Amino acid sequence: MNERMYPIDFHWLVETALQDGFGIDDPVKLSAKPLDYLGHPLEVGLGIAAGPQTQLAQNLIAGYLAGARFFELKTVQTLDGEDLPVAKPCIDARDEAYNVEWSTELRVPDAMNEYIKAWVAIHILAKELSLGDPKAFVFNMSVGYTYEGITSKKIDDFLNGLIDASQTECFQDCLAQAEQLLPKLKHVTREDLANISPHICSSIALSTLHGAKPEEIEQIAGYLIEEKGLSTYVKCNPTLLGEAKVQALLKGLGFGRLAYDPDHFKNDLKIEDAEVMFHRLLDRARAKGVHFGVKLTNTFPVKNTDDVLEGDEKYLSGKALYPLSLSVAIELNKRFNGQLPMSYSGGADALSINQLFDCGIWPITVCTTLLKSGGYYRLSQMAKNLPQEVVSLDTAKMEALLEEVFSNPAYYSRPWVKKADYKVPLHQCGIAPCQDECPIHQDVDGYLEQMTKGNLDEAFDIILRDNALPAITGDCCYAYCESSCRRNHYDQPLEIRSAKAYITEKAHAKHLERIVTPEPNGRKVAIVGAGAAGMAAAWYFGQAGYSVDVYEATDRAGGILPYVVKSLKSHRRPIDLDLARIKALGVRFHMNHPVSSLDDLKADLKVLATGSQVTKKLLGEAPELEGTIKIGDMTRQKYSSVVQCMADAKELLELVSSQSRPVDRKTVVAKKGQLQLPVDLPQEGDRCLNCSSHCESCVDVCPNRANLAVDVGEPKREIVHVDALCNYCGNCEAFCPYDSRPYMEKFTVYRSQEDFQNSVQPGVFLGEPDKIRGERTKITDKLIEVLLSDEYAWLRDL
Ligand code: SF4
Ligand code: SF4
Ligand code: SF4
Repeated sequence: MNERMYPIDFHWLVETALQDGFGIDDPVKLSAKPLDYLGHPLEVGLGIAAGPQTQLAQNLIAGYLAGARFFELKTVQTLDGEDLPVAKPCIDARDEAYNVEWSTELRVPDAMNEYIKAWVAIHILAKELSLGDPKAFVFNMSVGYTYEGITSKKIDDFLNGLIDASQTECFQDCLAQAEQLLPKLKHVTREDLANISPHICSSIALSTLHGAKPEEIEQIAGYLIEEKGLSTYVKCNPTLLGEAKVQALLKGLGFGRLAYDPDHFKNDLKIEDAEVMFHRLLDRARAKGVHFGVKLTNTFPVKNTDDVLEGDEKYLSGKALYPLSLSVAIELNKRFNGQLPMSYSGGADALSINQLFDCGIWPITVCTTLLKSGGYYRLSQMAKNLPQEVVSLDTAKMEALLEEVFSNPAYYSRPWVKKADYKVPLHQCGIAPCQDECPIHQDVDGYLEQMTKGNLDEAFDIILRDNALPAITGDCCYAYCESSCRRNHYDQPLEIRSAKAYITEKAHAKHLERIVTPEPNGRKVAIVGAGAAGMAAAWYFGQAGYSVDVYEATDRAGGILPYVVKSLKSHRRPIDLDLARIKALGVRFHMNHPVSSLDDLKADLKVLATGSQVTKKLLGEAPELEGTIKIGDMTRQKYSSVVQCMADAKELLELVSSQSRPVDRKTVVAKKGQLQLPVDLPQEGDRCLNCSSHCESCVDVCPNRANLAVDVGEPKREIVHVDALCNYCGNCEAFCPYDSRPYMEKFTVYRSQEDFQNSVQPGVFLGEPDKIRGERTKITDKLIEVLLSDEYAWLRDL
């Protein structure tokens, strides 16, 4: 294990991007007329905020391929490289998000080189892949944090190198390597290379420390404007709103549990001071012929009260930051009447970005949303749909947007999705959490897919393979599947239970007409009790060809359900539907037929499904009798759930394993990263991510492209972790459906024997491919063979 990240050589950046897009299978082509950003063409007002996705060259390239065009490069400061302690893991992006890293982990000159390499590579890729105008993207610097640091030689060299890179060794080397690549490129000419501007950045975002004095902020901004000639954006803190407002906003969305140090509100810049300072800076920028504006906002520091990240404080972003940043925009715009340019980065995502743009706020950069399932792919939805008409800043629209936040459940605090309680396999991983979490392991994506295609009879058949009581569970199941659905990582879980109810309602009558009585197997089963467990057992055994008799002491099926389930108290329809179908299978229900002695029942198997109270009497003191099986609530001696009772019944016949069905990869890729709230139940399957056939979450969410999906001819691509690209940020752990850390548990490629020896996770150093750690399997051998092919030569060169 090595937390250090190694840069990829320029020519490999270009070649690998052309080959597999650093995991972006479907690069976004943009063709609209570019916007004018401070005199520079910009294809779309969307980009990536300074953070994990703008640190390494391949991150910036992946972002461009996925549709970003504005890049706020990861913040640099004098403290860098190994001198900057960053506790790992450093990112927790599960619901709202937190981080404890804030500036580049590279040395400042190395960071500059990464930005230069990405700049040149993107020009080449844009032309070669016809992704749009190769000049119409923007690199924007971000620096912190003090006047002394920003005016130091280290940072000054960085600023000068990106203002004009022509004299830097890296820029010249990139062009020389690009020249060598020309024979491999179809559309890039020598002239194109000559036209790549060395003027990489003409604008900058300034980050200051919490508690920075207004005079220092103004001093730095003035320096950047007047001495460096840069259009300058000051990053504002949410503390500008004052404590009462921040608290009310957080509380309103269920984040009232967040604690913070009130001193931040006392020490940070106040809105009145900001107002006068920003007026002066606007004047100074105008006088210099550059631009001044604000970036909304920085993160918000809160107390660290859990054990995911280390340290006393962590930095809040994502959906909890969104209403804060939007409120800062409102407050400032009221004071500046549309005259203070605002760019944005506070928790924007595909659900909000168009409206933010329509408020006159742009360019908009995102970060947290890209850390979640779908990763960089989330940019493509935003890039393709963002308007191209810049409008004036509008307070009324901003206020209306803030109001909307409170009516959208996607912005509220939610408990994090449950993971499977076992470890990820080394090979062929991926599960459908809905199926895994369901006690009867229903093929959820299977029936949702058929429903969406309009094949309701097929959908119902899939449900009935596992579920004996679809009408009842469609009405009152706890829906464990929904709380574990991977769509929770995106927007909202699929409406699985409602879908089941819908399919059952539509397909039930026809099913009764076409029901086929199974071939009898000559065996008899007697079931005592017609509650959920008894009905379920009747269905499963009936389907398996048993001759089934159910004995019920009362005059109604359903057992305790109508007494404890509110919805079933008022209507029995779901119970009646399920009962009718079980009867149609040939099961005989004997109502008003109490069983006082098991000896009275003549059957090969006697099933006791009499709830938590009654069975003891029947069994007497003997807990087990030969040929008698207890199921349902009586096995636990307490009430449980319908589906758990069904699971007991089902276990009598079989244990259903997860079913991986072939799914068109293109369909899955098209859904990657798409935020889509439920609107039309029959089409709900369109939102399903087909998790049983496809995962690759750890590949998508890795900012550094340190997880690869490698095709080795198996049904699923194999996950390979690249140690040299990983900074152990921990993000992929949150989105792996297993109780696992992919960066510590998946097959890993090491760049040196030393790194291999210093690590524990299974893997190989490709310089000595025979020495592998972990189980050696047929798949591992195939995998190593592929990794040693030309396609992955760049791995050996890291
Ligand atoms: S997205 Fe589909 S397959 Fe994945 S957990 Fe949700 S319902 Fe199941
Ligand atoms: S592999 Fe995982 S831990 Fe490593 S950089 Fe990527 S997301 Fe972070
Ligand atoms: S996140 Fe990665 S390691 Fe976990 S199941 Fe998905 S593909 Fe496998």
